[in-house]
Amino acid sequence: METMKKTALSYIDQAAAFFTELSDEIWGCAELSLKEFKSTALYVEKLKELGFTVTENLGGIKTSFCGSFGSGRPVIGILGEFDALDGLSQKAGCTEPDPLVPGGSGHGCGHNLLGAGSLAAAAAVKKYLEATGKPGTVIFYGCPGEEGGAGKAFLAREGVWKALDAAVSWHPGSANQVTSGSNTSSIQVLYNYKGIAAHAAGNPHIGRSALDAVELMNIGVQFLREHMTSDCRIHYAVTDAGGISPNVVQSRASVLYMVRANRVADAVGLLKRVDKIAEGAALMTDTTYERVFIDGTADVLPNYTLEKLLFANMEAVELPSYTAEDQALAEALKKTYPSSGIKGLDVCSDEAVREQIIAMSNNGQKAINDFLCPHFSCEEHFPGSTDVGDVSWLTPTAQISAVCWPSGVPGHSWQIVACGKSPLAHKGMLYAAKVMAGAVIDLLNDPETLAAARAEFEKRSASGYVCPIEPDAVPIAL
Ligand SMILES: [Zn+2]
Ligand SMILES: [Zn+2]
Repeated sequence: METMKKTALSYIDQAAAFFTELSDEIWGCAELSLKEFKSTALYVEKLKELGFTVTENLGGIKTSFCGSFGSGRPVIGILGEFDALDGLSQKAGCTEPDPLVPGGSGHGCGHNLLGAGSLAAAAAVKKYLEATGKPGTVIFYGCPGEEGGAGKAFLAREGVWKALDAAVSWHPGSANQVTSGSNTSSIQVLYNYKGIAAHAAGNPHIGRSALDAVELMNIGVQFLREHMTSDCRIHYAVTDAGGISPNVVQSRASVLYMVRANRVADAVGLLKRVDKIAEGAALMTDTTYERVFIDGTADVLPNYTLEKLLFANMEAVELPSYTAEDQALAEALKKTYPSSGIKGLDVCSDEAVREQIIAMSNNGQKAINDFLCPHFSCEEHFPGSTDVGDVSWLTPTAQISAVCWPSGVPGHSWQIVACGKSPLAHKGMLYAAKVMAGAVIDLLNDPETLAAARAEFEKRSASGYVCPIEPDAVPIAL
């Protein structure tokens, strides 16, 4: 490894306390999507302390910001998230469910680590730019509302990602691997129906039922399901049934729809058909309705060139080693959930690679997957959605996963919150930071790889980005 690059990466070890303390503080904030005000203030303060030029209120979102350093091209973005999940409050290090704040929120997706690790990577790249005087700009993005709100998709609509030459990110997980493949596009719309309340026995002819409209809409969509491509999914939740009195004609009722397709353009098309059914339900029941766009995310465009670069850095950076305490925590947590297979296989349809991972994980028995999964790139669409997809349609983008919790732990769980402040989690975060910083430094020095990543991106995105965020939509904190 080049000496200057090595020095920049060693900064992450030297400043480890700074970034782990930040992660722990964000863990304590545990703020929900688009309400991350304390976390944002903390990041802005830290970015300034580190010498970044800060832009607040990025894209008009109050909890969105970025910090940049350097000048000229290439311009590389490192994405950070920092929102938490409702109802997942849990005491750190405690290996049985025990909320810190009953009913409170918690970092059940590890975004406390995600943001702080990405900032550490950006800070190391800044050190490199300062030491070498090379041209290039690194930007850390504080991306709000990943769990709900699709912050990055709203920023995409505002043109934020187009300016980048490439972007990298990571997600805490239970396997060290490059994240390949794609996710589904997903769009959410709320339909609020209004009718006329009336005595259900005495004056039913006067009443107009909003609940009937919701039921008819659901039936209409049920028939639509037969006539869509097999990659599509339509989910719904009745968020307001209009009350608990059957002897009242319900004058209000609401249903929240989530429409998915492999490709964002198809999801947008499918949503138009759902809209027609919504209108039909209003016509049938003589009610009115208000359509509220909530959020949407595009599918992810993989970038094999960047994936290869990230893997090379995953190999070059030393993997964390674990103490008896790390092992004990992982073992104790692993006992609290049923085994759900070997993580790292979920993005791997290659039989040979699967065999290797099975062997390395000791057939899924290891509590900590202390190894690097073999490199594997693929085109498959995996269930679930991420707003990283919207970044990937506008600039070459790739991500990794790093071990921050025990093998097979369920996503969005109290176990993840319990682990979120542990040395086990910190080690994964610092590893991910070094890998991302290493890859960005390589991109600063290697215009050919950057050009190859761009050429691959142009090919994959040739059909053009269809932004799932509607022109007049505003981010809504649910
Ligand atoms: Zn999540
Ligand atoms: Zn997440």
